[in-house]
Amino acid sequence: MVKSETSVWEDCLELIRGQVGEQSFRTWFEPIKPLRLDNDTLTIQVPSQFFYEYLEEHYVHLLRQCIQNELGPGGKLEYSVIVDSGSVSNQAYSVTLPNQNKNKNHWDNSNGRQEIVSPFEMPSLDKNSRYSNLNPNYSFENYIEGDCNRLARSAGIAVAEKPGITSFNPLMIYGGVGLGKTHLVQAIGNKIGEASANNFVLYVSSEKFTTQFTDAIKNNSIQSFTNYYLQVDTLIIDDVQFFSGKEKTQEMFFHIFNHLHQSGKQIIMSSDRAPRDLKGLQDRLLSRFKWGLTADLQMPDFETRMAIIMRKMQSDGIYIPDDVVEYLAYSVDTNVRELEGVLISLIAHATLNKTDINLELAKQTLKNIVHDIESEVGVDYIQKTVGEYFQISVDDLKDKTRKKEIVIARQVAMYLCKEYTNHSLKSIGYHFGGRDHSTVIHAVQSVSDMMDIDQKFNQAIEELKKKMKMKLV
Ligand code: ADP
Ligand code: MG
Repeated sequence: MVKSETSVWEDCLELIRGQVGEQSFRTWFEPIKPLRLDNDTLTIQVPSQFFYEYLEEHYVHLLRQCIQNELGPGGKLEYSVIVDSGSVSNQAYSVTLPNQNKNKNHWDNSNGRQEIVSPFEMPSLDKNSRYSNLNPNYSFENYIEGDCNRLARSAGIAVAEKPGITSFNPLMIYGGVGLGKTHLVQAIGNKIGEASANNFVLYVSSEKFTTQFTDAIKNNSIQSFTNYYLQVDTLIIDDVQFFSGKEKTQEMFFHIFNHLHQSGKQIIMSSDRAPRDLKGLQDRLLSRFKWGLTADLQMPDFETRMAIIMRKMQSDGIYIPDDVVEYLAYSVDTNVRELEGVLISLIAHATLNKTDINLELAKQTLKNIVHDIESEVGVDYIQKTVGEYFQISVDDLKDKTRKKEIVIARQVAMYLCKEYTNHSLKSIGYHFGGRDHSTVIHAVQSVSDMMDIDQKFNQAIEELKKKMKMKLV
């Protein structure tokens, strides 16, 4: 009797059924279709590349055993992978891949026998209580737009409106710490969740993903881990730089990524640096990141920082005078989280001391917070900068000379030392040719007075202050 592909595969399934758990059988074997049988080669059709890779990683021995039972020692298995173009037309085409038939070094060295029969149920598998990990406070409405984030923000909105359909898949957002990555990716997730309750959005940090995965290995529950992630419609992975050097986790993520992507599911990722600078990530994973869109976040400019502060005040129902808003926006140019931190301390100080928020308090608060950074602007730097500005040598600044223009420059330098360093008055005097602290007090006072009455002088000081700030970045 001549065997057909169907009968051969049915016999194989019989064998497989006895070897793997019910759940695995349904997940990984039922969807397979036998396509053809040419001599001793059986071709089976699998739904995706991920499926093929998964079978090869986990069931290669079992499959080989079945095929050889059925077709003799020369029996071969070939895969035909349905590649979903992901577009509306949904046209599928096949790629035939030979069975690799080699013992790959993979994370679960099972030969298919030890598949978990009853994987533990993850709470989120219950469709009614899909737990997305999203923080509803992160929205697009309170994500202020500026040049710093325009591309990322609008790509985010496009993705949120049509998850899985735009070419921004995956969407990769990168930028330094505190610049709004988590906020943005969560805003996308929230918007998708609001628009469609059927879209299973999952936010997870790569750290958490790694822990879940390692636990799954420990508890022998890889299957349920995988099943869980394969149900996700929008997967948001925050801080993928954390995957660096974690080979097995990357492998797992790679599979999940491929599967979701091929099924037209949306993937959103964030990273603290550009993909090209992600060391310790496998090339094949990095190349996937480039399939979609990569957009960066920069530090917001002055106006955007003002808008962020005002938005925050509005939502907290707090009033802060304009000059304080300006002062904060001007002074805190490291990142948005720090800006918010300063704002919170300022409010706390005002509340505790039962005072109004004013410029004085803002300066005081800021001084305490950015203490560490400010120490980077040293006396030497100030003397050099002021010397260059007034075209006077540093030696002259320290000298006894009482020439008017030198005296003024020296006083300005002392004033800036008082503002930007942690040196005591005594120490500042010491650095200016061993003058005493009363000279420094006098200098600081004179400069302040002059700033009040002389517009041009005031401008000069502002310019110098900018130079100090630049040094602080
Ligand atoms: P990251 O994940 O990049 O480290 P976060 O998303 O945690 O940064 O942002 C830090 C803080 O700054 C959050 O409280 C966030 O709401 C706020 N933030 C960042 N960018 C903006 C923005 N453009 N508009 C409003 N708030 C922002
Ligand atoms: Mg973050």
